[in-house]
Amino acid sequence: MNVLLLGSGGREHALAWKLAQSPLLERLYAAPGNPGIAEHAEIVDIAVNDHRGVIDFCLRHSIGFVVIGPEAPLVAGLGDNLRTMGIAVFGPNKLPAQLEGSKGFTKDLCAREKIPTAGYVRCESRDGALASLEDFGLPVVIKADGLAAGKGVTVAFTHEEAEGAVRAIFADAGASVVIEEFLEGEEASLFVLTDGETLVSFGSAQDHKRVGDGDTGPNTGGMGAYSPAPVLTPALETQAIDEIVRPTVEALARMGAPYSGVLYAGLMLTATGPKLIEYNARFGDPECQVLMLRFTGDLLALMLAVAKGELASQPAPTFAARTALTVVMAANGYPGTPETGGAIAGIDKAEATGAKVFHAGTRMDGDTLVSSGGRVLNVTALGDTVKDAQAAAYAAVDAIDFPTGFSRRDIGWREIAREG
Ligand code: AMP
Repeated sequence: MNVLLLGSGGREHALAWKLAQSPLLERLYAAPGNPGIAEHAEIVDIAVNDHRGVIDFCLRHSIGFVVIGPEAPLVAGLGDNLRTMGIAVFGPNKLPAQLEGSKGFTKDLCAREKIPTAGYVRCESRDGALASLEDFGLPVVIKADGLAAGKGVTVAFTHEEAEGAVRAIFADAGASVVIEEFLEGEEASLFVLTDGETLVSFGSAQDHKRVGDGDTGPNTGGMGAYSPAPVLTPALETQAIDEIVRPTVEALARMGAPYSGVLYAGLMLTATGPKLIEYNARFGDPECQVLMLRFTGDLLALMLAVAKGELASQPAPTFAARTALTVVMAANGYPGTPETGGAIAGIDKAEATGAKVFHAGTRMDGDTLVSSGGRVLNVTALGDTVKDAQAAAYAAVDAIDFPTGFSRRDIGWREIAREG
């Protein structure tokens, strides 16, 4: 089978690496890809938002299956467009992808289905939103409705901050906002594969959103992650699937919009049980990298079963009983304006330690690998404990020569403290 993988980040490099190991694969193409993905796939110069270009390519190259990595094409309906052409897709259609595309859609669905999540109001006007702030204590959480690449959320600790966040969102015409109660607890990510009917867990992870050591500084797309997340115990995972994920999947099926793909639940583990913070309609980045390092099955077979509605007949996904940990190497300036074009060397030395280095924002400049984005490399390693995995990942990080880049030095700190 010929497969087209869409995306160009570390998540897609990890997917390409794993898909390339499948005996079912004939040819793997990737658009627009990156130099790491190019080790496993033929790179195609098509943007992920060019639906016509993607469909034309599929028809010309006998593509039987498209794996959509990032959220934007899912929310824009690329899944629907491909399915209409009879092409199998990993990733949900536009309507179920609203779980990620619209925070309001998700909150309303949770309210109807009594799914545990933070209390909220949705406001379409600035004055309405400012008035609604009165109904919440502090801290309070302000979220722009719509895709915001992880940047549309403010946790406000003062009334001034909350009002400022509301005013900033309504500076854009047609804006709408979700104001919600602050949840206290530890965050964990749960990944569930579903074909709309059957659900299977694809494991857990914890990421590190802040740019600086000790969880300081501005939010980012994620500076590192590890899997599994031991805080999400098997009992809590079952509770989260039963009380949050399954009712969501069933509600979408009843709406005639079954969810097919991976559903990523961002959870807050509160004193009264897991509560939903947000859904994503795709794998996390960099959480995908740690999941793929642990996954021991045939990814293409599993994704095809999801796409074809045959998940019930698949064996449950199997994972190495070890911890995988990834450290993001970012370009100086990230998450502001990253310095691009910086030379990178030593990936082979890093991989000689046993680690796997996934490319995110890289490109070739002649014969030199250089940075081309904020998050540049994901240095990923396995260990018997989080501490061992961290040591292995940083040994590999230290073998890489990337003078215009930086990384956090404490990925995994929370769990390592618990490991004692
Ligand atoms: P989201 O984009 O909805 O995942 O929000 C980004 C981050 O904001 C989350 O990862 C949490 O750290 C934080 N956050 C969002 N909603 C809440 C909430 N209701 N209570 C506490 N923290 C939240």
